[in-house]
Amino acid sequence: MAAKVFKNFIGGEWVESRSGQTYENLNPADTRDVIGVFQRSDKRDVDDAVSAARQAFERWRLVPAPKRAEIIYRAGEILLERKEEYARLMTREMGKVLKETRGDVQEAVDTAYYMAGEGRRQFGATVPSELPNKFAMAVRMPIGVCGMIAPWNFPMAIPSWKLLPALVCGNTCVIKPAEDTPLSTLNLLKALTDAGLPKGVVNVVTGFGPEVGAPIAEHANVQAISFTGSSEVGRTVGVTAAQSFKPCSLEMGGKNAIIILDDANLDLALDGVLWGAFGTTGQRCTAASRVIVQKGVYRQFADRLIYRAQRLKVGNGQDESVEMGPQINEQQVATTEKYVQIGKNEGAKLEAGGKALNTPDHVYGWFFEPTIFTDVNEKMRIAQEEIFGPVLSLIPVDSFDQAIEIANGVTYGLSSSVYTRDVNKAFRAMRDIYAGITYVNAPTIGAEVHLPFGGTKSTGNGHREGGLGAIDFYTQWKSIYVDYSDRLQRAQIDTE
Ligand code: NAD
Repeated sequence: MAAKVFKNFIGGEWVESRSGQTYENLNPADTRDVIGVFQRSDKRDVDDAVSAARQAFERWRLVPAPKRAEIIYRAGEILLERKEEYARLMTREMGKVLKETRGDVQEAVDTAYYMAGEGRRQFGATVPSELPNKFAMAVRMPIGVCGMIAPWNFPMAIPSWKLLPALVCGNTCVIKPAEDTPLSTLNLLKALTDAGLPKGVVNVVTGFGPEVGAPIAEHANVQAISFTGSSEVGRTVGVTAAQSFKPCSLEMGGKNAIIILDDANLDLALDGVLWGAFGTTGQRCTAASRVIVQKGVYRQFADRLIYRAQRLKVGNGQDESVEMGPQINEQQVATTEKYVQIGKNEGAKLEAGGKALNTPDHVYGWFFEPTIFTDVNEKMRIAQEEIFGPVLSLIPVDSFDQAIEIANGVTYGLSSSVYTRDVNKAFRAMRDIYAGITYVNAPTIGAEVHLPFGGTKSTGNGHREGGLGAIDFYTQWKSIYVDYSDRLQRAQIDTE
């Protein structure tokens, strides 16, 4: 059966790419399964989408925010009804297990409900004026057309983090999903259009980074950019946006550490590390890729972890009993293989996994064994660079202070975690780890949508997604002064 062809969504219409070119999207668990044929777009399609978004902005910005919010709320309800269907399609599209893709759709539902509430908040400030008979306030204004570039690992949740706050604030959007996961973004779009979103308010252009992402970032009529992806691509997007002074939110890579102290509940830590390191096959920006363990429990913990990791069931995520799915594509497997070799060359001890899986159950997909290196030195490349695969480095330490120093000793600063029963150490970790997120007695993954999400150093450029962070990004302040004195009053001058 011929694979279904999916089109771009521009100005409320389904349209082919101007070039007429397409590409196939394959199931990473079984590359014989073609998810669909998608448009391979270019700058011309981006131009069309931006002009549709620009026209729509003039109407959408005038729709009262509570009315915009009603559409978003309805989209949340539609997503909830279609949760199972969209989760199953997402597992086929990008491989993570059903439990996780259900969570991904749920994250979009949660974001819809939260952002719908913002329709009646978007709080500003009213403050006293320094002059008599004068009123002063600051209100949030939409920015205009927002360009969005998304990664593949949370193919519905991350687009929802971008689109829904932008929409409730009165912006219109042009979004480019990752090339590996366009379908999940189109499913999110379908929920929005079925909920009554007017034409042109959201436009989806599918295709590859340099051909679609770069023209979005460069476009003179795109007023803000929200990018999630690797630090390498984020740098080029950030530099491009800076040239036209566009607000630009960059959410990028991580090298997240879990600290396990001698007094930790080891059973709890074990479950947390397995989930944090091998959930989403290690392909989360918040995945735990370093575990820093105090020497009193190091060997015991390592042995138990290796035992459990070697027994994780790896396979097609559509099978409910599978615990870890494939990597997203061939290049990602090649990267993981490269880092395993680097780790061995650096002298780390490979104690679990280390190879791509090629059994009859795995031969058509991009599967890799859950991999654990022990006795890793914190300066090794496997302990410094983001691998984005199921590879975990165990680093032994003598003390709490050394653990914090090592946790902070990387260029990234996204998520972090500490397992301890000592409240003093927990509070010191919350204060002293330089990262956007710290968990106590929980792994590095599991962010909730109503708190700010993002990181320090090479992980981000100071903005946050989620909750209020997103409302801050998708609005700009306007200060308004209303003088009802009927005479000229001069601030700072009429001081008597
Ligand atoms: P990526 O940087 O390769 O791609 C991200 C997006 O950028 C894709 O849509 C891609 O097509 C596009 N792109 C590529 N080249 C471009 C260019 N020159 N100009 C404009 N756009 C371009 O990342 P990925 O492989 O999709 O995702 C994995 C990375 O994303 C990891 O580094 C991970 O840590 C990070 N990530 C971060 C967060 C976060 O919130 N901090 C969340 C998820 C993933």
